[in-house]
Amino acid sequence: MQCLVISDIHANLAALEAVLEDTPDFDELWCLGDLVGYGPNPNECIDRIRGFTHTSLAGNHDWAALGKLSLRSFNAVARAANEWTQQELTSSSRTYLNGLSPSLQQGDFALAHGSPREPVWEYIMDANTAYRNFEYFSTPVCLVGHTHVPVLFKLDEEHDRAEAVLPPLPEPVGLGPERAIVNPGSVGQPRDGDPRASYAMLDTDEMTWEFRRVSYAIEITQERMRAKALPQLLIDRLDAGR
Ligand code: ZN
Repeated sequence: MQCLVISDIHANLAALEAVLEDTPDFDELWCLGDLVGYGPNPNECIDRIRGFTHTSLAGNHDWAALGKLSLRSFNAVARAANEWTQQELTSSSRTYLNGLSPSLQQGDFALAHGSPREPVWEYIMDANTAYRNFEYFSTPVCLVGHTHVPVLFKLDEEHDRAEAVLPPLPEPVGLGPERAIVNPGSVGQPRDGDPRASYAMLDTDEMTWEFRRVSYAIEITQERMRAKALPQLLIDRLDAGR
């Protein structure tokens, strides 16, 4: 099966549309959470994803928009954007988000928004944190989002460590025999210095993973954010990919 794996869309419809245009044919869409927060089109992004055969997780921003998480843990701009999102969500979007879990098992894959150890909050930013998370899932591979940085962590059992493999990679990488934790990066707000939308293709038969990037019309999203009076800092950071 061909899976389109996306995460952290953050209500950036222009970026999501660019990914859907760029992606090869896929059988299922797997979304690792944070559909909303930051961006100007939360309902449209939810509706677009619901149109596919898909699995989706809840992220911390999704839960905050539902009032399931306190906004006190958010910085000022994230809080302001989330308060706007709370007002903007339709009852249909709220019902949809409310039905999502921050982690689940999908066939032979574990899926978690942040990490298998702490699905809502933990950021797997480095190989040490990744290494400590391998005991919290039993499948060969776990897919995570949340950091907005694409990366593959391979478990090196012999040396009790994990190794980080960063894109760009010349071709799809094989998953296995080592266990792995993989992050497709963020569709709507990349933070690795590359402003293009980030996503991945997973082939569950061949067990390969391909990191992919696609440019989108950042200025369209920025214009929509201005029109909704969303924080300037969030508008500016889309250009930098930070
Ligand atoms: Zn996020």
